[in-house]
Amino acid sequence: MFCKNCGSQIDDNASVCVHCGVPTNPAAKHAEKRTNVLAIVGFLLSFFIPLAGVICSAISYKNADREFGGDGKNFALAGIIISAVYLALYVVAIVLCAVLWLPTFINVWTSILAA
Ligand SMILES: [Zn+2]
Repeated sequence: MFCKNCGSQIDDNASVCVHCGVPTNPAAKHAEKRTNVLAIVGFLLSFFIPLAGVICSAISYKNADREFGGDGKNFALAGIIISAVYLALYVVAIVLCAVLWLPTFINVWTSILAA
């Protein structure tokens, strides 16, 4: 047979053209299960950088069905939930710190300004 991409003659059983590297059978490419790497990356990021984790997880969740045949959907969903929980905890922690430290900051600054 001939390569659909470059027109070179190739082996009938070849799955990839030896001349240009393009797959000979698009159906075989579809059947091949791809790993949703971004879902795993997003899941791991959610523990350390929740904002990046939630973005990666949301993108990989959106693409999971269309591009990966549903692969990584659970990882992506877990990443979104974990990121959301961590983000909420960070916000609570920041607000608590601000509320607890604000009077101290005000006291320090007023005493500096008064001096
Ligand atoms: Zn070719």
